[in-house]
Amino acid sequence: MTHRNPWELLVATILSAQSTDVNVNKVTPIIFQKYPTVQDFAALTPEQLEPDIRSTGFFRNKSKSVVGAAKKIVSDFGGQVPEEMNQLLTLPGVARKTANVVLGTWFKKGVGVVVDTHVTRISRRLELTRNTDPAKIEQDLMKVIPPQKWILFAHQIIWHGRRLCFARSPKCVDCPLEQLCHAADKTWSTVEIHKNAKP
Ligand code: SF4
Repeated sequence: MTHRNPWELLVATILSAQSTDVNVNKVTPIIFQKYPTVQDFAALTPEQLEPDIRSTGFFRNKSKSVVGAAKKIVSDFGGQVPEEMNQLLTLPGVARKTANVVLGTWFKKGVGVVVDTHVTRISRRLELTRNTDPAKIEQDLMKVIPPQKWILFAHQIIWHGRRLCFARSPKCVDCPLEQLCHAADKTWSTVEIHKNAKP
């Protein structure tokens, strides 16, 4: 998702829930031209932002989160997106996934692993976790992935999920991980299938 600073990345990540990067990238240039700073967003009501982000879906909640986060950043953090996990988690609409995206991608701080829909699905297929709750999945991944790879791992898995390991009909025949993967819903396999390894 395109962004020029941590605030723009935070907003884009909030807007990306249940949406696509393509959709988000259509909306963000318009809103950041209209409201260039975090202070501009803090001066809005959620209702004022709603029409501009409507196309990303769940726009009422997202408007509340974006405007609420802006107000808190201005009032509590001097207008700067905080760089600590515990501070980011105080912002409305920001849970660990969004905080990890901002910390990892902008601040280059790997304090956790981004767990989105791709990471959830593929980590379960690859038997890196048996959990379904993102917070628990993240804890499982932090035990098996070296800390210096946490940021890269999430980027790689998300890319893998977009290119090959689709939710439906993964392209297992083209997958370089095929021999390591025992997922129950593989579309092609040279190895034993594990019935509990599934999304
Ligand atoms: S073999 Fe298939 S299910 Fe397993 S990781 Fe590759 S694409 Fe995904």
